[in-house]
Amino acid sequence: MDKDTYKKLLSLEKILTNKQITVASQDEQRKYPSRGIFSVNHKFETVMNRKGHKRDKLSLMMNSNDGNMMRFDIIGKPHQGYPTPHLHVFTGENTFDSKFLSSEELPYTFDEIVSNPSAFKKDLELFLKYNNVELKNVIFYDSSIKGGN
Ligand SMILES: [Zn+2]
Repeated sequence: MDKDTYKKLLSLEKILTNKQITVASQDEQRKYPSRGIFSVNHKFETVMNRKGHKRDKLSLMMNSNDGNMMRFDIIGKPHQGYPTPHLHVFTGENTFDSKFLSSEELPYTFDEIVSNPSAFKKDLELFLKYNNVELKNVIFYDSSIKGGN
């Protein structure tokens, strides 16, 4: 995805399809679809992935129907020498070509990022906020708490 499209899609105001969202539990992956508030044809999907083979893993991915936008690796192995947390920004021509942002370069909201399993809700909230997803009236459920699904 080229930089201009990326900038446009990132700043686009988005709304979640389902405002009741459940945080993924260990070894689970959950998807949270959203769309542009004023441009319904722009569709997005946030993927929370906690599937790890050998060790704990937590990543948040933002995809659009124009391609991958960013992946936030919160817990997991380093990539190209960058320890987690780090952000992959897919603004290159090649889908696999991503720019790395280290923890020092992360957007200000990510300063609050937590690697505590009980606080993933906060991470998801920050990630959605950073991607301009409307959080008004959104209810987060922790999958480990009864009543969530
Ligand atoms: Zn990574």
